[in-house]
Amino acid sequence: MNIHEYQAKQIFAKYGVPTPRGIIANTPAQAMTNAQELGGKIWVVKAQIHAGGRGLGGGVKLARSIEEVKTLASEILGMTLVTHQTGPQGKLVQKVYIEEGADIADELYLGIVLDRAKEMPVIMASTQGGMEIEKVAHESPEKIVKVAVDPAIGFQSFHGRELVFGLGITDPAEQKKFISFASKLYKLYMENDAEMIEINPLIKTGSGEFLALDGKMGFDDSALGRHPDIEDMRDISEEDRDEREASQYGLSYISLDGEIGCMVNGAGLAMGTMDTINYMGGTPANFLDVGGSANAQTVAKGFEIILKNPNVKAIFVNIFGGIVRCDRIANGILEATKLVNVHVPVIVRLDGTNAPEAAEILRNANIPNVIAATDLADGAAKAVRAAKGEKII
Ligand code: GDP
Ligand code: MN
Repeated sequence: MNIHEYQAKQIFAKYGVPTPRGIIANTPAQAMTNAQELGGKIWVVKAQIHAGGRGLGGGVKLARSIEEVKTLASEILGMTLVTHQTGPQGKLVQKVYIEEGADIADELYLGIVLDRAKEMPVIMASTQGGMEIEKVAHESPEKIVKVAVDPAIGFQSFHGRELVFGLGITDPAEQKKFISFASKLYKLYMENDAEMIEINPLIKTGSGEFLALDGKMGFDDSALGRHPDIEDMRDISEEDRDEREASQYGLSYISLDGEIGCMVNGAGLAMGTMDTINYMGGTPANFLDVGGSANAQTVAKGFEIILKNPNVKAIFVNIFGGIVRCDRIANGILEATKLVNVHVPVIVRLDGTNAPEAAEILRNANIPNVIAATDLADGAAKAVRAAKGEKII
């Protein structure tokens, strides 16, 4: 689960990680009141969406008067912000964060991510703040300092020294401040079961203070049960509607950008199915694991969700019946064709428990666009050909 910048900054503040002062607003009038309350001469109006690159997309603007705060807030609120992370459809801005302007002397980068290979959180820091870290990693990887912290010993002063030396921070007072910043960030990362934190930019002000100017945080969904305060920060409107609907029916659905809708039981087989589709020259439109308790209703729901995606040109149903019985899936397919308009070819491979009964059900139903496949390779190949518009018999 991801949260908004203003929420990440609330967590930062709780742990003593310095951030500029700011107040969230839903309306331009509120934005103006917030700016008055904050005081000062310069404010930043920041669109709150779950995506980076807001600055370049026009979602972060500097205001030099209270009136300008109001004008900018009314422009940004309600806009569909398109950034390199939102995709071309963009994201609707429903909240703006009004922040006091900061005096930026230097822009740095500081993040923590879980490194699955090392099985440890890794602190990443760079002098190239304000730039996308993926770009820095690609163009000048030597400018990223990585320090893995073994959770068994926690953040120690040698980790801090590695960071400041790596960044070339030489002033002892600044070193101390930066190490304290990183140490608090590590503490809040661990205590809240975060998966990633990114502060880009982390700035050094004219007076040598370090401030988190931006803040992105993602959390381990499986750990949310022990963090009700974090769970409360969930913004459903930022999440993929189809993925949420699917999860309500016990389906794991992830939308992708290809053309072949996939309905599979088991995450491993679903991954294998997508690989096979790619191998055969096609592209999967989604990942969908119908799980072990799939029945006619959930299969019908799966079809409905897959078909909402206008890019889908064919559907490949690949079920290996262990606990799931193939005849139930076959009935689900029949039910789906009654409930939703299945207007694309459906390639069906059903193997395992009750496969002969399933084949019988489908044969008797005799639906023209439902095509049987003998195995995974045959099914994937037929789905790829069907998606290209070939007639499959
Ligand atoms: P992102 O584009 O989504 O990563 O949003 P950021 O929070 O990083 O803001 C984008 C850029 O706006 C930053 O890299 C800064 O250069 C600039 N910015 C943000 N806040 C301030 C501020 O208080 N003062 C000034 N001068 N620039 C700011
Ligand atoms: Mn940023």
